[in-house]
Amino acid sequence: MKSHYSLVVIGAGPAGLSAAVVAAQHGLDVVLLDDQKAPGGQIYRAMESIPAERAKLLGAEYLRGRQLVSALRESNVDYFADCQVWSLNNKLEIGLTQNNKALMLTADRVLLANGALERPVPFPGWTLPGVMNAGAAQILFKSHGIIPEDGVVLAGSGPLLLLLAWQYQHAGVNIKSILDLTPMHNHLRALPHLPRALLAGHYLSKGMAYKKDLKMAGISTLHNVSNLQANGKNLLESVSFQHKGRTETLETELLLIHFGVIPHSQLSQAAGCNHQWDNSQQCWKPQVDKWGNSSIDGIPIAGDSAGIGGARTAEHAGRLAAIQVLFQLNKISQLERKKLAHNDRKWMREERHIRPFLEAFFHIPGKLLREPDDHTIVCRCEEVTAGDIRQAVADGHQDSNQVKFLTRCGMGPCQGRQCAEAVSHIVAAANKDNYPRAIYRGRPPVTPLTLGQLATLYPEEQE
Ligand SMILES: Cc1cc2nc3c(=O)[nH]c(=O)nc-3n(C[C@H](O)[C@H](O)[C@H](O)COP(=O)(O)OP(=O)(O)OC[C@H]3O[C@@H](n4cnc5c(N)ncnc54)[C@H](O)[C@@H]3O)c2cc1C
Repeated sequence: MKSHYSLVVIGAGPAGLSAAVVAAQHGLDVVLLDDQKAPGGQIYRAMESIPAERAKLLGAEYLRGRQLVSALRESNVDYFADCQVWSLNNKLEIGLTQNNKALMLTADRVLLANGALERPVPFPGWTLPGVMNAGAAQILFKSHGIIPEDGVVLAGSGPLLLLLAWQYQHAGVNIKSILDLTPMHNHLRALPHLPRALLAGHYLSKGMAYKKDLKMAGISTLHNVSNLQANGKNLLESVSFQHKGRTETLETELLLIHFGVIPHSQLSQAAGCNHQWDNSQQCWKPQVDKWGNSSIDGIPIAGDSAGIGGARTAEHAGRLAAIQVLFQLNKISQLERKKLAHNDRKWMREERHIRPFLEAFFHIPGKLLREPDDHTIVCRCEEVTAGDIRQAVADGHQDSNQVKFLTRCGMGPCQGRQCAEAVSHIVAAANKDNYPRAIYRGRPPVTPLTLGQLATLYPEEQE
């Protein structure tokens, strides 16, 4: 790896892959850094190593990724897998670890394409062994073919939950029940967006086809479920919930939960990019213009890390951000930029027809985000409860960052990845604000880094 590149791309999902390839094709020296073992990102994970039979079970959308991954292999992009970026600042200096060694890189431009993470939603019992994120279970399936042996319960709200249920059903997994926590009134909320969504009707028909297959397979889906709770002494034993006015309990050793995805904003926060609250997506996201430029010169952001748009939008946005970098670095003219961007702009507009409908339909109930009961653990790393957070607000610490300093929530190994959003919701509710006012200030290292790894930056000072 060189110590300076024209363009550093962080993240080898659809956004990063398309960006890196187009930039390299036009003569930039590009490095693509990703913490996975192989290119593909979340959706196209393990694309190069997956057996054909398993790939088929994941559906047609998964197979689309082949082209993107082969384009990378055919390009002259310097691609580094297993590479964790833990720092980015406004001088475009990047800290990363590779093979247990820390390195620093500099760049003329840094494109953040580091994707999304599953929205953490604390509820009673969510930290019990046996409760996992649906996305994590899907990672095990894609990467290693690992599926649950006994009956599994899926719960939450969002397209990924339905997709995983469908993939599991095709793989022969015994699904005990799907608990759909999408409130009934979301149907009304989404209705005004339906005409526009019909312009991207393939998404709606795909979702309906998944539901039909699940129904035909006899898998029960309970709709309008609330008050989800995971029970057990040391391990998950059962799940209870409210359905049609009654409390019901299902015995299970595995509960897979999902409440949508939110942008991975730790690096953009650490770099100091401006962020704004998006009420439709119910999350913080960086402010970017139509080319992906953030508020910091030289740091464009594309794909889900700039706001949730899905895999195809990510692919177009990645390419557009790279085209803009080529223009800024005088590799192409304004006219060439316009020509190169034409198709991506067009397809991106088409893709975006579905978003308002999905965002309204899968809007997570405010009660779930803002009102976990006092005993529920919110920060897993430091074991801080919702009650501790409310007490801190009652004591006069009205901002998420003050709550963090007082309670240590967000100061553990995950550096707030698993609690920052939840804390900002609870603090907003305690302050009687409709929306969160602030999120944790991101500070490097955003991922765990040992002192030993850090010391490798200064080999001359080691004995
Ligand atoms: C767990 C999970 C599973 C998903 N599965 C699907 C699916 O099956 N189908 C679907 O349509 N959508 C899925 N999504 C939604 C998905 O985010 C988008 O559809 C799409 O993958 C977004 O593309 P992207 O290029 O923006 O980001 P991603 O595809 O997320 O790619 C970002 C890449 O950056 C890497 N990265 C992140 N932080 C760092 C760092 N600090 N250092 C180095 N590398 C880093 C990530 O590991 C990843 O490889 C999933 C999302 C999640 C969180």
